[in-house]
Amino acid sequence: MSVESYFMEATYLLASILFVLSLKGMSRPETARRGMFLAEAGMFAAIIGTLVGQHVVTWGWIIAGLTLGSLIGGWMAVSVPMTAMPQRTALSHAFGAFAAALVGVGEFLTHGSEMGVITRGALGFEVMLGALTTTGSLIAAGKLQGVIRGKPIQFRGQNAINLLIFLGMIGSFVSFWIHPETVAVFYTMLGLAFVFGVMLVIPIGSADMPVVMSLLNSYAGLAAAATGFVLGNNVLIIAGTLDGFSGFILSVLMCKAMNRSITNVLFGGFGSVIAEAATETGGVMREINLEDAAMQLAFANRVVFVPGYGLATAQAQHAVRELADVLEGRGVTVKYAIHPVAGRMPGHMNVLLAEANVSYSSLYEMEQINPEFPSTDVVVVIGANDVVNPDARDNPKSIIAGMPILEVDRARSVIVLKRGQGRGFSGLENPLFFKACTTMLYGDAKASLAHLAQAIQHV
Ligand code: NAP
Repeated sequence: MSVESYFMEATYLLASILFVLSLKGMSRPETARRGMFLAEAGMFAAIIGTLVGQHVVTWGWIIAGLTLGSLIGGWMAVSVPMTAMPQRTALSHAFGAFAAALVGVGEFLTHGSEMGVITRGALGFEVMLGALTTTGSLIAAGKLQGVIRGKPIQFRGQNAINLLIFLGMIGSFVSFWIHPETVAVFYTMLGLAFVFGVMLVIPIGSADMPVVMSLLNSYAGLAAAATGFVLGNNVLIIAGTLDGFSGFILSVLMCKAMNRSITNVLFGGFGSVIAEAATETGGVMREINLEDAAMQLAFANRVVFVPGYGLATAQAQHAVRELADVLEGRGVTVKYAIHPVAGRMPGHMNVLLAEANVSYSSLYEMEQINPEFPSTDVVVVIGANDVVNPDARDNPKSIIAGMPILEVDRARSVIVLKRGQGRGFSGLENPLFFKACTTMLYGDAKASLAHLAQAIQHV
């Protein structure tokens, strides 16, 4: 082996270790940023190792690719707001999967019929999974961004058509495996996989897109691992497998937090059913004015903030910390209750609150905080809705029945900060807003929190 090859293998080993450590880091909010830096360092090491250890045919293309990729990545990093992070992630999956599919096509064109049977199988798998993940992720990004209708798109005979496309795709995969010399079969498989990606995602409502995305993330990882087998590249096999399985575990955890099964997410058409199942709750919502809300908070002993998607849209993370500082300055005990699927992506609330320097020791997970609500004086719900909907616990007929919730209605008093009568992502009415313990403080969450902080200083 040449010195360059040794160097490449050493950087691959280093990159693999960094990827494992990065996943470990990302499992806790305190170490998540470090985890991200480790992953970036691992990726950098793998790129340098490849450029040194592999025969580069044309540097021009490599430099053009690196420049274009860096420009697009840099632009996405600075210009995409936090609230659009799910669709940005979906786009990244589409890029990764498309790269895997293109490498597969390139390998087919250069070595197609000379490949051994195992490598050929891996190549077919890589191209198929890469192609369907590309279009599936693009549809997911479009739905999350609102450029494609978020509601499930369903039509008569859809399942039969999907089954035919699926069987056609698998059939061409098997046929390519046996007869790699038939070029048309390879491209048929590629084309059908692109179409299948679209068909797989259009019947799923945008409420379920984060779960779908983490599944697609898993597919993109497996496609990358297959690419590793085709190219004989160890770091791709390791990174792809880590990505594939962590994406799958994340999907399972998200489904658990919503009390749904993966099959129900993929084939349930959640969004459409929800809209029909929305119930009329009746009763009246009681409004509270700023001064009364400030008074309640100022004289409370224990206050819990419950952030949700509205905190993200309002970018109210700094405002809530400032209000917490004012309250703590008066001797009030302040905690934050974090629901696992609050917001639009896993860890959404943790990331926002970390950005505002909220101490990790003030963040409480659902299981930790639920027993504390009965002894809490005031809960402030900040743009959260579904994750505090008591119907999930009390109404077995509700479409979200069984979904674990933050049981804020057990607290002595609940103040809900939202702009108006808007529903949560599930489209359901929330009986919490009609309960005797609840009052509504209408307005943009950031403005309401800032006004509360000011008002409390005058109490
Ligand atoms: P939510 O149910 O979507 O409710 C958000 C609420 O925020 C709305 O009712 C809205 O009411 C309010 N709001 C919006 N902008 C606001 C602003 N600027 N100021 C104040 N309020 C504002 O949010 P959630 O309770 O966080 O629940 C998350 C949902 O996403 C769940 O259904 C969950 O299953 C789903 N989901 C999450 C994930 C994940 O990974 N996090 C994954 C899949 C699905 P107004 O319009 O009246 O203001």
